[in-house]
Amino acid sequence: MQQISPPEVVIYRRPAQLLTLAGPAKARAGAAMSDLGIEHGFSVVTRGEKIVWLGPDSKLDVNTLGTDAQVRELDCRGQVLMPALCDSHTHLVWGGHRLDELELRLRGADYEEIFAAGGGILSSVRQTRGVTDEQLYAQSLARVRRMQQTGTTTFEIKSGYGLDLQTELRQLRVAKQLREQAGVRTVATCLAAHAIPAEFRGSQQKRDAFIAGVCEEILPAVAAEQLATYCDVFCDRGAFTPDEARRVFARGQQLGLKPRVHANEFGHTGGALLAAQLGAASADHLLYLNADERAALKQAGVIATLLPGTSTVLGKPFADGRALVEAGVPVAVATDCNPGSCAFESLAMVVGLSCYGNRLTPGEAICAATHNAACSLGLHNQVGRIAPGLDADLLLLGTDDYRDLVYHTGSPLVDTTISRGRRL
Ligand SMILES: [Zn+2]
Repeated sequence: MQQISPPEVVIYRRPAQLLTLAGPAKARAGAAMSDLGIEHGFSVVTRGEKIVWLGPDSKLDVNTLGTDAQVRELDCRGQVLMPALCDSHTHLVWGGHRLDELELRLRGADYEEIFAAGGGILSSVRQTRGVTDEQLYAQSLARVRRMQQTGTTTFEIKSGYGLDLQTELRQLRVAKQLREQAGVRTVATCLAAHAIPAEFRGSQQKRDAFIAGVCEEILPAVAAEQLATYCDVFCDRGAFTPDEARRVFARGQQLGLKPRVHANEFGHTGGALLAAQLGAASADHLLYLNADERAALKQAGVIATLLPGTSTVLGKPFADGRALVEAGVPVAVATDCNPGSCAFESLAMVVGLSCYGNRLTPGEAICAATHNAACSLGLHNQVGRIAPGLDADLLLLGTDDYRDLVYHTGSPLVDTTISRGRRL
């Protein structure tokens, strides 16, 4: 008979700061975003994949942990113990790279100009269509491994570099493969409406035909294979109009795919208001947002996802995170990790950028990249806080004050990333 060893019990003893993010499991807004539920003199116990106990270290009775278990104790004094980061907006499955464009942009070329000349997203579409399944998986896994090292254990992954049925499915299958083979927590989003591909450009008729293909071919196939939870549309100037986006979202919703929206990156182009009308899980980018649009997002309970890495790389303005917090809109922060407009992989660094660029405070930024991000992915009962019953997705920082993540933005402060109880 096969011997099944009991799950390992780990005691994280007395971190200098324990960021519990204790509180309701819903997305936080306003002042609640800066309350990280910080405890001192506490310890946390995990058993296998789960957090099973936390409380004052003096109240911890090791005898109650079960005699069958193999118990490991970690002395966390001088360190911060916090929830692992949750990256709620990435495009991390792509083929090739766009290093040449990086230089063009730094020499003054504009992102929208590069796109119009067949570069940008369309260049990644050509490269992604051109790699094998094995290459696509290997390149994506390498990115995930680096992202884990910097503290991220949960990844939203969008398709959108296929723009045809087969390649969109291949991208989403890689997201599934990362989950099933590599044990990475991924949530997939079909972004077939990312751009009009080269073969559908040149006339309104072709454009309509592409959108019809997304609605009648790609989305149904994605839903049939259960490859995605969400549906996304790049609703902006040079991409899709609000009316086109509405068609795609309506079809997605019929198929059970919930909306998230690339909105208001290049102007007041209707994406944010559409996200509010649809009650989308998230409206992302939001560089151009007025008081009415903020009020609409708040009213509809839409999470505003800020992507300050992209503003940095493209030399664009930063979304006004301060105004969003003050308007009571729940805010998340993510990398937007993608081959062109921002290939940053470290969400820990982007947390820092969200303070300097979007004017969040360090506490708000941590909430935005953990609990609020998890809420936007419907994972609020699995990750984003430290509480019994949640997955043991934790970070140990090599500092005694979490604000150092912002103060020393970009420094390697993540000592240990723990995903479902496993040290990575
Ligand atoms: Zn994006």
